[in-house]
Amino acid sequence: MSQAALPFRRYLCVVCGLIYDEAEGDPDGGLPPGTRYDDIPDDWVCPDCGVGKADFVLLEAAQEQGPMPGRPTASTAPRGLPQCPEQVIILGGGMAGWAAAEALRKRDPDCPIVLVTHCGADVYPKPQLSSAAARGRTPEALITATGAQQAARWNITLLSYTRVLEIDRRHQRLITPRGGLPYGRLVLALGGHQPRPALAGSAADSVLQVNHLADYRRLRERIDALSSARVLILGAGLIGCEFADDLSAAGHRITLVDQAAQPLSRLLPPPLATRLADALRHRRVALHTGSTLSELHHMDHVGCVEGANETLRATLSSGEEVTVDVVISALGLKANTRLARQAGLRIGSGIQVDDQLRTSDPAIFALGDCMEHRGKLTPYVQPLRAQAEVIGSVLAGQKACYSGHDSAIVIKTPCLPLAVYPPLTPGEWVAQGEANDTYIHYSGDTITGFSLAGTATSRVASLEARLTRKG
Ligand SMILES: Cc1cc2nc3c(=O)[nH]c(=O)nc-3n(C[C@H](O)[C@H](O)[C@H](O)COP(=O)(O)OP(=O)(O)OC[C@H]3O[C@@H](n4cnc5c(N)ncnc54)[C@H](O)[C@@H]3O)c2cc1C
Repeated sequence: MSQAALPFRRYLCVVCGLIYDEAEGDPDGGLPPGTRYDDIPDDWVCPDCGVGKADFVLLEAAQEQGPMPGRPTASTAPRGLPQCPEQVIILGGGMAGWAAAEALRKRDPDCPIVLVTHCGADVYPKPQLSSAAARGRTPEALITATGAQQAARWNITLLSYTRVLEIDRRHQRLITPRGGLPYGRLVLALGGHQPRPALAGSAADSVLQVNHLADYRRLRERIDALSSARVLILGAGLIGCEFADDLSAAGHRITLVDQAAQPLSRLLPPPLATRLADALRHRRVALHTGSTLSELHHMDHVGCVEGANETLRATLSSGEEVTVDVVISALGLKANTRLARQAGLRIGSGIQVDDQLRTSDPAIFALGDCMEHRGKLTPYVQPLRAQAEVIGSVLAGQKACYSGHDSAIVIKTPCLPLAVYPPLTPGEWVAQGEANDTYIHYSGDTITGFSLAGTATSRVASLEARLTRKG
């Protein structure tokens, strides 16, 4: 039989668990849909972890194998996978996953809860990743409990370092490289990811993204080895500005690049964006606005410095060149929807849920960075905590409703503390007082948002109370 007549097959990356599906190919990696595994060129790499084709095995064969070689498993994980058909499975070991587990356990001491996650599930406050360097806190110091400790505390079965490959809704089962896991109800807390910038150059793959503790550990290893690292941050949004401020305060030399005219231009009224730009420059952050990063090369590859492999040459779209040690991309977050989409759940920008946080499948719920409620993503900590309480109640058989969660966003830039309540309706920003630190957004006569700087950030609660927006 010719290959074309064979059904498409799927291959599992034994290092990170990504599935290569011949039907879908890897268009971003140059493999059009329909590319057979045998036809993949030898220089192709796994889009998630960068290993080569040789580290992929035929999926159907892999599912019968035990744990992935070389990957640790949590001490709380049983030998076989838990097989209770009624169990609640929480998928994701970030803040949202743990918050949901805790909320349910508080209401139901007996229900079997299994938390499955690709990461180690250690508990840490993720927002501190962008403020820890200046405070001299190591990645390890951010961990408040290991995954195993947290699981023991809440009587939860933890399957860490376990990537879920597929949600089989028909049989209410999750497919993992370690075998199948039945669920009675499933909670998706899959988080989000940062899109990779499209870059040319020999060092395009060395761009770091910081969305998890492991990413942050890698960043700190790279910059702590240098007394004053040259760091280029791509994206002057919330996370890019926070890292720029934090790392410059820690003594590193920062270049901040954004295609907009000002940092945080989508959130702040122009006068406050200008104040933030000035405050960052005062910190010696080199701000390149109206520009982007287009090429990144290892210096030895462009013949500038012999043997200086870790030194990079960044070329901006303006043509300027900057020599750096590390590049961080902070281009915003996209909800992780792939698993849910493949399972046929309703997807918009995130996994869509109703007011009980149910997806289009009544046995499956979602919260945190991966979900979309009433057309909005809510990638912040306060909303996920409120969502966890609702899911905990609904799963425990109580009535609860999530009507949205609007609160100000606090931006951790000590060079100019900021708090913003972004307006959703068109209107205009009006300065209040003489100090150039309070801007109120009006849509007609109605206050629909505000932006506060410096000491005015203490007014957040009183202004939130004046807002008339309903969820
Ligand atoms: C640097 C930084 C600063 C921030 N600052 C603030 C701030 O000041 N204020 C604020 O409110 N918010 C802030 N945030 C956002 C906030 O931290 C997030 O909204 C929140 O942590 C999201 O939690 P989550 O559990 O939804 O997602 P995540 O933490 O991304 O967790 C997702 C989990 O899903 C697991 N997973 C994904 N796919 C699979 C799979 N296929 N199989 C198994 N497991 C899987 C992952 O391993 C992970 O455990 C910040 C974020 C960052 C990165």
